[in-house]
Formats: sequence, C-alpha cells, structure tokens
Amino acid sequence: MSVNPPQSRRNSAIKLDPIGKVDSGFQRTFSSGQSKPDVAVAVTVHGVAPLGRSNTVLPRSNAGINDPSPEWVAAKHNATLPPPLETTEQGSEPMDTSAYNPRQSPASGKKKTKGRRARTRRAVRPFLTVQMSRAKSGAEVLRISLEELGWRWREVCGARKNPCDLYWHSASFYDTDGVYSGMVNKYPGLLELVRKAQLSKLLHQMQQLFPDEYNFYPRTWLLPEQYHHFCADVASLQQQNPRAKPVFIVKPDEGSQGDGIYLITNPHHMGTVGLVRRAVVQEYIPKPLLLERTKFDLRVYVLLTSISPLRIYICREGMARFCTVKYQPPTNRNLHQVFMHLTNYSLNKKSETFIHTDSTDRGSKRTMTSTFTALLARGHNTIALWEDIQAVVVKTITAMLPDLLVEFEAELPARKPSPSCFQILGFDILVTEDLKPILLEVNANPSLRLDYEKEVAPGVVESHPSPVDEEIKIMLIKDTLRLLKPGRVGRETRPRLAKHDKRAPRPETPTSDNPASEEDNDDDDEDGGGGAKEEEGERDDSCLEEIWPRKFGECYSHLRVMEHVAGLFNRFLGVKGAHRMGATGFRMFSRKCKLCTNGITMAGIDIMYIDITRRWNLDNAEGVSAGMCFGAFLEAFFALAQRKFRGSSLLDKVSALVEICQCNLSGLGAWPAQPRPHQRRLRRPEMVKRRVGRWPATDED
Ligand code: ADP
Repeated sequence: MSVNPPQSRRNSAIKLDPIGKVDSGFQRTFSSGQSKPDVAVAVTVHGVAPLGRSNTVLPRSNAGINDPSPEWVAAKHNATLPPPLETTEQGSEPMDTSAYNPRQSPASGKKKTKGRRARTRRAVRPFLTVQMSRAKSGAEVLRISLEELGWRWREVCGARKNPCDLYWHSASFYDTDGVYSGMVNKYPGLLELVRKAQLSKLLHQMQQLFPDEYNFYPRTWLLPEQYHHFCADVASLQQQNPRAKPVFIVKPDEGSQGDGIYLITNPHHMGTVGLVRRAVVQEYIPKPLLLERTKFDLRVYVLLTSISPLRIYICREGMARFCTVKYQPPTNRNLHQVFMHLTNYSLNKKSETFIHTDSTDRGSKRTMTSTFTALLARGHNTIALWEDIQAVVVKTITAMLPDLLVEFEAELPARKPSPSCFQILGFDILVTEDLKPILLEVNANPSLRLDYEKEVAPGVVESHPSPVDEEIKIMLIKDTLRLLKPGRVGRETRPRLAKHDKRAPRPETPTSDNPASEEDNDDDDEDGGGGAKEEEGERDDSCLEEIWPRKFGECYSHLRVMEHVAGLFNRFLGVKGAHRMGATGFRMFSRKCKLCTNGITMAGIDIMYIDITRRWNLDNAEGVSAGMCFGAFLEAFFALAQRKFRGSSLLDKVSALVEICQCNLSGLGAWPAQPRPHQRRLRRPEMVKRRVGRWPATDED
C-alpha cells in the first residue's frame, strides 16, 4: 500500500525547513491562494498524515479516557509517521486511492485481497459529489482532506437540479436553497442558538433547574433589557462586600473575533454598545490559568452528528490561543489592554509581540495537546481538566438541544425528503487558576482556514501556511468524513424526530437511525467480519471520541427534561413545519394533558397564552409575529408547573408536569398531585418509558 503525499492545492514550490527539522516525514507544498501573492515558506508539518494510515492503536489513559495526554500525543505522532512510500508494513500491494471507500481503512493494515467481485464493485462505485461553492475558506481543507482520504469525489454546483452527497456551507443551513437529500454540514437554527444572548438565555434556563451542574458559565446580563437589573446586582454586591472590585466584560451580541469588546468596573461606564446595540455583560474571570505568565484559552472542536438520538464527538486535538502581553489582574490602568485580556487570534495577530512559528508547542497559537503537555509538566491534572471540558460540552449541547429539536422539526419535518445534518462546533474555553473550565462561547462556524495573513509592507499582505491549523483541521475534517461516510448513508438515516417526540425516552444506544453508529451492514464489500474490525481500528486512532451517548449518556441523562417539553411543543404545534403554536394548539395541549385542575381553568389558560405570547413577541428583536414560540411555551410550562405544585424545587415541579402530560397523553390517567424528587423519576428516560408503556401513534388516540 502506498501513501500519497498530501497534495496541496496551492502552487508554489516547496522549500525545505531551514533548520532541517522534519519529524513527521511529511512535507507539504504551500503557496498562497490564487488571489494572494505567492509565498514559498518552509514548514515542518507535525502529524498531518492521516491517522488512519497507521497501525498504531492509541493508548487510553489509566482512567479510561482518551485524553490529550502526553501518551496520546506521543502515540498520535508515532501514528502519523508514514509508512514507506511504496509499500505497507504488511506487504507490497499499492494502495487503491481511486475507490471511494471510507470503510476500507488502511489503519487496520488489512490487505485488500478481496475477490474479483468486490474489486469490480469498487471500481464502479460512483463519485462522491460535493458542493463546496458556499464553503468559503473551508473549501481548501475539505479538498485536501478528500484528496488525502483517497476518495473518488467530484465537485458539483447548484442544488435543486443537481442533488449531491455532501453540501459544505460556511455560514448556515440555508446557504444553499432547495437541499432535499445528501448531507449538510449545518443544522437549521443552530447559528442563531449560539449567539451570545441566546446561549446565555438557554444556559440560564438550565441554571434555574440544575444550579450545581450549570456553574461553568459566567454570570451574564442581557443588554439593554437587563441593564437596570445589572446595576442593582452590582450595587448589592458592593453593599455586601465594599472591598470587592468586580470587573465586567461587555460583548456585542452578534460580535465575533473580539470585535467591540471592552472591560468595565462600573455599570455607569457602559458605552453605547450595551445600551443601543444588543449585547451581553458578563462577570470577568480575573484569575485565569496562565502559561508562561500569559493568558490563553482553548478552542475545542465538537462534532454533532445527530440530534435524535443525540450523538456528540469531541476532537482530542484543539487549539490554544495566547495573549501577546503578560497577564496582570485587571485594574483601571490595564483594563484597555486588549492584548493582555483578550485571547482572540484576530486581535493578537496585530500585536508586535505575536509569535508565528512552525512549531506546534511554541508561539501564540499552539495545539491543545502541546499546551496540556506543558501544563502536565507543571503539575496540573490535565486528565481531570479534559474530563471537565467534555462535561461542559455535553451540558451546553443539552441546553441547546430542545430548541434545536424544535427548529429541526419545523424546517425538516419528518417524512418529507430532506438531507441529514451534522455540524462542527468550536467551544471557547477559559481555564481558571484552580483548573475549572469556563465556557466563553460556542462558535457555529469555527474557522477552518489553514493559513494566516501577514502584512509585510503597508497594504501588502502575504498568506503563509499555518502548521498548527493544518495539523488540527485536516485531521478533524478527515476523521469527520470517515465517520459520516457521506454518499454511503441514505435518506432513511436522518433523525426520525416525530417518532421520538411521541416517545419521551430516546434510544441512547447506537441504532441504525444514526449514520455514525452503523456497523458494516450497508457495506457491499465482501469483508465479512473484517469490515467491522476495520471500523473499530478507525475509531481507535480517530481524533474524534464519542462523548454522547457512549461516555456521558448515562450520567447526564437526567439533564434532558426540557427535551420532553420540546416534544410536547412539537406535538401540539398543529401545522407541520410551523415554528409557532396557535391559541388552539395551546388549548389542545392543556385539554389533552388535563391541566385544568388545581384552580387552573381554560379561561386562565387562554389568558396565560395571550399574556406570555404578547410579551415574547414584543421582546422579539425580529418584530411581532403571531403565535407562541418555543421560548414562550417553555415559560408557560414553567408557570403551569409552579401553579400546580408547591413547596418543591422548580426542577421537581417541571419534571412532575412533564410526567403528568406524558401519562395523560398515553391514556394512563392522572398522576399524583405532588411531585417527588426529580432524581428518582426522570433521571433515566427509560424509567418514563416503563411507566407510560406504549405511546399512541397519533394525537387523536
Ligand atoms: P468573541 O466572539 O468576540 O471572540 P468571546 O466571548 O470569545 O467573544 O470573548 C473574546 C475574548 O475575551 C475571549 O477569547 C477571552 O479571552 C476574553 N473573555 C471573554 N469573556 C471573558 C470572561 N468572562 N472572563 C475573562 N475573559 C473573557
């Protein structure tokens, strides 16, 4: 089996590394993009070779965690050592790069000694069709990844007339109109959900229910609507502790890359950003973990492959972005120093002290694993940190999921032709001095650029390859493609949301509904059991680790109460594909769930609908539109739970109301009037399933 050197889409000649440090054995040719001046730059590329081309199985830590520990890094770098150019370690058969076959992982080291039939089939397998005209800067990494995988692929344009297997968008699901099949790399509505204000709302909602679990997000106020609330909270804080000097960070809602961000110590110092534009103001974390006396944050890549059932992967490699001025705790004198307080690459690259380097463990942008290695050397427990980061990811997605389910069902109603979706997310994590991960934000479109631009003279910008970006992003995209197998997974594999909506408990074990969980049952190669083994081998050295359901599915299933509420909302929406519930739908919900008890009347239900809907529609930045959105429905649901039950926690009340609804809808009759502690009931969805038995097939049952 031979390994093709990665083909760069850039044209300029390669120069060897001046210091002759080529330790992965792979040299990549680089030049600038077409519109930019050509620059030949010497690079050392660590580990850009596909992991799947090695037989090395990565070790797991003692704790059973696939963490970015030094062992994982070491194994990864060994794994990336390419085999000799023309032969494999096992034999001398040249690698067949012409056949698109993501399952045929060379990682297994299995020789392709299949029968004639299998070879013939592979030869006629159609090209993977990819639409990347909307991919912008992501197109390059996608092309390189497809080439390095050795898949047969072809670029196509348009959508309606030329349906294709994979749509790669740069911004949102809607980048291409009329997509009815294949796979799209975005979920409808996810972009809006991760905006700072919206994400803060969702996490706040979960904080109300699970205060101990959702303590990884700094206290946040929405501006301008919560400005007075913010002033009052700061005043009461200072009354309690007159010596406290809290610092706050103001961020525009739709801003990114550090744009428009500033620090304040006094609410009255708020500029126009918070009072005119939508923004958030947040507690500033004054004691971040420092490395070389410098503040840094982590960009953690997360892959969402399915929302029903939920399936989440985390990338074991990520990025650490360093400030370019040594850190000092915030004071009035240094508040304005963005290079000291903000870790954004887009800001710090403008600093004179920004260090661009070919090395992945030095400079202002490093790999996450090299940063973890440095932290470990300083005595920090990086295994525990990595576990905590994964928990933050799972909890954040759990908070977003109910809205995502509603949006998905509205945009891609079940039983209509529609594509399946997946999405790569970028989680920005700050680590505190005592090694606690803090979520700063979630990026729906993390940058997939492989180069960086440098102004060499006023107005003259050169593009240079960035080894750190290449190392991480190519590996991420290749393993994502390997996992998803676009073109191999048919329309029938998209999440069947409607089915799950009617059954509160969702299957948490791999099912055939989920592309990523499939074993080799759709493989027409005659591999027999070998195919499955190859799949396992691929998983072992993939940079993607499944964290839901495999790792955390059991211990965090109790956080998923709100998904049941989303299921109820979807069920009573009335018109399929609608985003908002009408008054009739809300009445129907109350009647079928038998909520008019304990002094709640149908007239009261109508008034509640009008009140809450009107308020939400006035608050809505998009303007007034008819009907009750999911956020308003949640508020109504919480209000009903509070009115029906007294004396227990909000979580217990909401859980009890969910169960009442589910029982009444399943025809099992009324539920006890008082809730019991949440943990004993909704901790595991299976328990609800056992209680309620079979769910009716339709609303009318
Ligand atoms: P943007 O989307 O503009 O990048 P972020 O929320 O990521 O906005 O904030 C930009 C930077 O500001 C972060 O990378 C981090 O360095 C710093 N930062 C943001 N929020 C906080 C906070 N609450 N405490 C300390 N630093 C913060």
